[in-house]
Amino acid sequence: MADVLDDAEIARILAITAHPDDVDFAAAGTIARWTDAGIEVIYCVVTDGDAGELDEDVPRADVPALRRAEQVAAAKCVGVHDVRFLGYPDGRVEATLDLRRDLARVIRQVRPDRVVCPTPERNYARMPASHPDHRAVGSAALDAVYPDARNPFAFPELRDREDLAPWTVPEVWISGSPSPTHFVDVTATFSRKIAALRAHESQTGHVDDLEERIRGWLGHAAALGGLPQGHLAEAFQILQTA
Ligand SMILES: [Zn+2]
Repeated sequence: MADVLDDAEIARILAITAHPDDVDFAAAGTIARWTDAGIEVIYCVVTDGDAGELDEDVPRADVPALRRAEQVAAAKCVGVHDVRFLGYPDGRVEATLDLRRDLARVIRQVRPDRVVCPTPERNYARMPASHPDHRAVGSAALDAVYPDARNPFAFPELRDREDLAPWTVPEVWISGSPSPTHFVDVTATFSRKIAALRAHESQTGHVDDLEERIRGWLGHAAALGGLPQGHLAEAFQILQTA
């Protein structure tokens, strides 16, 4: 297992993702454990999932509001009540300076002790984890953690015009990594993860074997992490940023 900060030292966690539903596939079981322990968790979702595959009956103009509402409902299932959206166009995210500044802004506003984000690496074993938006958001999020959010001379407008002081995030948990180093036992919170995923009705409403599929992935992660048979885990790569 990797070197990890004790949850008792953690007051706030910021989870940065590309699309509504990403955080629930990657980390909702872990997040339920954190909020149960009294840690405040905030979500920052870069796009509105407006390129998501949806029922043809839903007018495309209604998709962003629908998917935002689904993410807010899913967040509630695991004790998260602060969800922020950046409104970038789904399917066209790049790790630009604008995105780094927007993420550095949220980091300085939230002042998290831990950030969760997708891996910027391509995972050849899991194509969907390697969606280009996920990789772009992972790259921009890591750049926002280091150096942008902590460097007073990066994006000086954040400090000068918005009065946002630099902030150092000590630890990052990367999801979807091809080389996970830490496995969280989510056996006890699995049903809430499934409830959160079900809240993304437009994405999961037609998936009959959702629970079975997720159970398979999480069982595999638990085995990889050396957890007892029958347990379920979410996997992360932990980075200490100092
Ligand atoms: Zn996604």
